[in-house]
Amino acid sequence: MNTVWAQGQALAETFESLNPATGEPIGTFPVNSRADVDAAVARAREAAAWWGGLGWKERQRRLLAWKSHIIRYIGRLAELVHIETGKPLADAKLEIFLAVVHIDWAARHARKILEPRRVRSGLVAVNQASWREYAPLGVVGVIGPWNYPVFTPIGSISYALAAGNAVVFKPSEFTPAVGGWLVSAFADIVPEHPVLQLVTGLGPTGEALARSTVDKIAFTGSSATARKVMAACADNLTPLIAECGGKDAFLVAADADLDAAADAAAWGAASNAGQTCIGVERVYVVQDVYHSFLEKLSERMSQLRAGDDREAHYGPMTMTSQVDIVEDHIADALARGGRAVLGGMQSVRRPYVDPVILTDVPETSMAVQDETFGPILTVTKVADLEEGIALANASRYALGSAVFSGSKKTAMAAARQMRAGMTAINSVIGFASVPALPFGGAGDSGFGRIHGPDGLREFTMAKAITRQRMRPLMNMTTFNRTDKDVSKLLALGTLIHGRRYRR
Ligand code: NAD
Repeated sequence: MNTVWAQGQALAETFESLNPATGEPIGTFPVNSRADVDAAVARAREAAAWWGGLGWKERQRRLLAWKSHIIRYIGRLAELVHIETGKPLADAKLEIFLAVVHIDWAARHARKILEPRRVRSGLVAVNQASWREYAPLGVVGVIGPWNYPVFTPIGSISYALAAGNAVVFKPSEFTPAVGGWLVSAFADIVPEHPVLQLVTGLGPTGEALARSTVDKIAFTGSSATARKVMAACADNLTPLIAECGGKDAFLVAADADLDAAADAAAWGAASNAGQTCIGVERVYVVQDVYHSFLEKLSERMSQLRAGDDREAHYGPMTMTSQVDIVEDHIADALARGGRAVLGGMQSVRRPYVDPVILTDVPETSMAVQDETFGPILTVTKVADLEEGIALANASRYALGSAVFSGSKKTAMAAARQMRAGMTAINSVIGFASVPALPFGGAGDSGFGRIHGPDGLREFTMAKAITRQRMRPLMNMTTFNRTDKDVSKLLALGTLIHGRRYRR
């Protein structure tokens, strides 16, 4: 962080965003203070009233215009993602494309899912007409991570906007230029009011947003930070969605297509240098196919190369501190009797980490227990799929997972037993590309859902309205009611609900 001084007075603090491959500065951004954040939230409050009052059609029109702007200028945005995170350009473009699919879905489905709907009142309230509505919350604060600086925050921002809210967005301090691009593109399309605003800074700026008067926080980041955000949100009883880390398991059944499974596990583990919340970190393979699978996986992963050039399969680690964690996990696994069948300690050559496959790693070790967030995976032999499921589920994380099996029935049964918010069968991260599906986890992976109908409803207040159409036959909400009225109602209740059910 730098401080800008004038006549001995600190005017403002700034920070630099750096290219992780070269260390070169990309841009200088303000460290927004608590007062800056509060001012942005106050402006957003007015913008929310306008945006909320625009109506579904007008909001949809503007969101779709934003979407087409992003895809038309995908090259420019991808370049920013590439230089701020280090990920290959093609990966950056794919990430942006996936985000666009979500903006499109949220814009086109918000009305159908959230518009006021008449519901049946039931026999007891037959004199009432009833409606269920989903009203916008007002102002949503979105705090983003750096690993997917477009796809991840868009998963909250686009759904919150489509539901009729204004948004104040604090991108990660590693990717402020990407955040700024998204916000200014939106402002070009919606110039009337600051419906989507940017605040930049480090942890304290995020904390200021969580302590402000926003109506909800959508946080994506580590479980450790989520705990701090939750504590900050407690001040105002601000509700929170927490999309946190993962330790995703990947099951290989005896009847799996091993080539497809090895290819998917390699990509799931090493793409984006393993810095993916739903990346593959633990593989459990049924013993009959363990050796064949391991051979195919090692062959596939040995061909991968980290680098900054166009041919590299993946880029550098974005945060240098994450390299220390990766190193610790490899060292701990080896010290506890694990074997590196591909790579090892020498695979860490900052800022790059080459692929590492670890076997015979005790389940109690760091590489199995904690999020590694690097191109490293453990491969463990299990007696059968049941043992694989049991080990996969014995984690404090519960985000994504994958099952490979040639039998639809086996795979579906295993998927349902996985303690994970999302499971892909015979692919990795298939669920992230289906906008109609909810995205999120449990345990240390957080709570709440983005994407799909659940993701839209997260950014609303469910509201009930009844209108009395006629006077009730028996009015229970008056001091004029008699004991006889109550007895009559209970007699009716017994008639309706008192029938014996056979067990
Ligand atoms: P992080 O927790 O370090 O930071 C996330 C954001 O929180 C940043 O914008 C940061 O400035 C802000 N922040 C830091 N301290 C804060 C505080 N006290 N109060 C409020 N905000 C604060 O995470 P990261 O390193 O940016 O991202 C990597 C993590 O994110 C990994 O654990 C990864 O698994 C997770 N992630 C999860 C998902 C998901 O959808 N579940 C998606 C992407 C990343």
